[in-house]
Amino acid sequence: MRIRDLFDRGQPVFSFEFFPPKTDVGEQKLLETVHRLKELEPSYVSVTKTGAKPAEKTVELTARLKHEVGIEAMSHMTCATAGREEMGRIFSLIRDAGIENVLPLRGDPPQDQPHFVRPPDGFRYATELIQFIRERDFGFCLAGAAYPEKHPEAASDEEDRQHLKEKVDAGSEFLITQMFYSNEHYFRFVASTRALGIDVPIVPGIMPITNVAQIERIAAMSGALIPQALQNDLNGVRNDNDAAEAIGVEFAVRQCRELLDGGAPGLHFYTLNKSPATSAILRQLRADRDAS
Ligand SMILES: Cc1cc2nc3c(=O)[nH]c(=O)nc-3n(C[C@H](O)[C@H](O)[C@H](O)COP(=O)(O)OP(=O)(O)OC[C@H]3O[C@@H](n4cnc5c(N)ncnc54)[C@H](O)[C@@H]3O)c2cc1C
Repeated sequence: MRIRDLFDRGQPVFSFEFFPPKTDVGEQKLLETVHRLKELEPSYVSVTKTGAKPAEKTVELTARLKHEVGIEAMSHMTCATAGREEMGRIFSLIRDAGIENVLPLRGDPPQDQPHFVRPPDGFRYATELIQFIRERDFGFCLAGAAYPEKHPEAASDEEDRQHLKEKVDAGSEFLITQMFYSNEHYFRFVASTRALGIDVPIVPGIMPITNVAQIERIAAMSGALIPQALQNDLNGVRNDNDAAEAIGVEFAVRQCRELLDGGAPGLHFYTLNKSPATSAILRQLRADRDAS
């Protein structure tokens, strides 16, 4: 099923993101997590491409989630270190595995490389990768990454959004945002991208907080600001993950309610391969819906 079609059904599209575990034991545990989350009837799941691991890991796990667990699934795929021939081979693998949905990304430069360098015969931006996929006629439904608080490399919000327009014009059929903790960033972003003529669904990316040090690290890397009131609450539970998770779930439920009430077409959960926080949030949102 093409994920874009799910947005035409008049229901919020809920998705869960996972990364390929390092070991077979880790993969087994992840499959158990996904089986637990399946009870919440996600619209689809997605599997990241992590820098050091071969693309095959992403493709294999996406195919298992789709064919064995029975949930629609999307592969993320980066092109930061590969050329055209290699990317063509990977997209053929994805197609041959029966995967219909792909999130094409440029990816980050390797850690020892301060700035992005186009690989030989490769791509500079995700938009070029999307054009390549369309030219080769792989037939995928394509997503795209978007940044309400601006991509860290972009000189300005305006430039970043103009480049996002190029990405959508090249073929992204829906967008998933970077995580954020202040909804005003999302609502302002949606309004300004609509003004530019971007008319595809823009799904907020939600990362539930379960560990204070971890979320501070990830937020700093991605450029997501943590509002002061939330930061104050987190400062009080720095060494207590259970308490941090309780604060994180309560915050995310409020955040997600406001996003859905404000017209967000769905929610994409960065699960970090764990189920309890995402389950608690989604159960509460479903209870809201049933009560209304
Ligand atoms: C939903 C989501 C999922 C992600 N999944 C993964 C994953 O699985 N694996 C992973 O490694 N990373 C992932 N990332 C992170 C992503 O790879 C990084 O943020 C990366 O730095 C940018 O990738 P991109 O595809 O957004 O790049 P691009 O869209 O190419 O943008 C990168 C920068 O280039 C600028 N730009 C674009 N076009 C032009 C142009 N023509 N001229 C000048 N500047 C331009 C943009 O404004 C931006 O600053 C994900 C991010 C998101 C939001």
